Amino acid sequence: MTFSWGPLPAGWQVASDLEHNTPQTIATAQNSLLLGGADVRVVERRTAKGGLLRVASRGAWTFDPAALAQKVAQVGDAQDRFWGEGGKPFLVSLIPLAPGATHSSGGRGLSEAFALFQEPTARLEDFTFLLAHERMHSWISSGLGGLPDDREALDYWLSEGFTDFYAARLLLRSGVWSLEDFAAQENEMLVRYAGSGARNAPNARIQQAFWTDNAMQQLPYDRGRLFATILDHRLSSASHGRLNLDDVMRRQRELAIRNDAAGVTATAAAIFPTVYRSVSGRDLSADLARDIQAGATIELPADLYGACATVKTSSISTFDRGFDGEKSAASGVILGVDPDGPAYAAGLRNGMKRLGREGGKDGNSQLFIAYRVADADGAERVVRYYPAGKAKVTVQKVEIRPGMAPARRSACARSMSGAR
Ligand SMILES: [Zn+2]
Repeated sequence: MTFSWGPLPAGWQVASDLEHNTPQTIATAQNSLLLGGADVRVVERRTAKGGLLRVASRGAWTFDPAALAQKVAQVGDAQDRFWGEGGKPFLVSLIPLAPGATHSSGGRGLSEAFALFQEPTARLEDFTFLLAHERMHSWISSGLGGLPDDREALDYWLSEGFTDFYAARLLLRSGVWSLEDFAAQENEMLVRYAGSGARNAPNARIQQAFWTDNAMQQLPYDRGRLFATILDHRLSSASHGRLNLDDVMRRQRELAIRNDAAGVTATAAAIFPTVYRSVSGRDLSADLARDIQAGATIELPADLYGACATVKTSSISTFDRGFDGEKSAASGVILGVDPDGPAYAAGLRNGMKRLGREGGKDGNSQLFIAYRVADADGAERVVRYYPAGKAKVTVQKVEIRPGMAPARRSACARSMSGAR
């Protein structure tokens, strides 16, 4: 398939990864992005391996789009080094969400591009992890065999979970993140996982409810990342540091390239256990059945990060918004307030106008959540509370060992990120 732009409206700037000098198929075209408009701005730079990186954006931001290009290049260079690849052209788009949109910020990884959607007030550091995640999708899982055509959410534990694992790991390894940045983000995931109402849902349930249930949508990311963490630790411990999950990923990449060349179709999740066994000599069937398919709770081992960080276990409240968050956001009216819950206790009532949310994170009972509301007289106020339910759950927390000297800290950044 070939692509070219037709005549453009006067003053338009356009960008698409279909312009790249890469053989295109219908499949890559379906996985591409096109952005155009009179207010589109395109900045270009070269990556370490010489590839052309373009950032196409609309709107005004708290940062210069050139700074975003710089960040993408830095993150991308570390990922290219990991895979021993790079030099390909790459396109990133950034568009602002309308103020008050109920649609959440996010991104989407594509063939030689990713798209970002953000609140115009977002700071660049707010979405470092997101852009590392989306860039990593160039390999996981499309470069490892890809997703099935049908019921693809069944494989999100690998395509999303392993992507999260490697996004975080390479941010730490490359120095874009400090030890504390890494631990803070991992702890955010651990709190969300511990308090998730979907935590022990079987994998089949993810396929059914992915698009209708927020907790179910998040589950494969967190479960898959924890599973990757466990496998990595197990490989590393059993081989006294000679092997880790990186070896499995790289070998699977080689196999996927050979499969592509031979016209063999085998999805990433289908190949993974075989490649894992060829690297480690160990069969994964029982682990996959228990941790992924049945949805057993995955716990981090206490010695995961050696002397660099401790993994502590404690008890926290489950996340409970105290009203129906999804219906209220959709209708603009507070609905389903539980008279016995934390929102009611803080003053939220059915029928109040929902003007907006200010702070908090879904699934995190440890952070204040706040809603701007108006009552029947039109008086506005902000209701703030801990979205803490009555039930308690066990949560794990990573704590970086305090007071380490700089040399020790960089050794820990290497070992905690699996660098050898
Ligand atoms: Zn993703």
